Amino acid sequence: MNCPKCEAAMEEKRFGTIKGTVMFDKCTGCNGFWFDTGEVEKIKDAWRPEFIDSGDPKVGKEFNKIRDINCPRCDTKMDQVTDPKQRHIQLETCKEHGVFMDAGEFIDYTNETVMDIFRDVVAILRGE
Ligand SMILES: [Zn+2]
Ligand SMILES: [Zn+2]
Repeated sequence: MNCPKCEAAMEEKRFGTIKGTVMFDKCTGCNGFWFDTGEVEKIKDAWRPEFIDSGDPKVGKEFNKIRDINCPRCDTKMDQVTDPKQRHIQLETCKEHGVFMDAGEFIDYTNETVMDIFRDVVAILRGE
């Protein structure tokens, strides 16, 4: 799979949680993340600190400006979502397939806050 923002190759990564293995793709170019819908569901209850985004926030900010992207799974235009509580968290979602997040999007947050973000993302994907 290639990154919907910068078109570099994405690498599949995984980490173990009490709910099982969570898989995601990380871009080798801009360090953005792609999570399939089911994987986001697992992360919302099982965030692990070692997962914290290691990308360069400056690079992430540049790529955060690119918002007009297509879903890497189905190639249709993704919805642009801004977290209502934390307006600088801007994500792109495909209701069918998952969510794209830029590098550094989480760098300022505690684990607890990040789990809240994932809960909100799950709600968005479900259309709640
Ligand atoms: Zn990229
Ligand atoms: Zn899609």
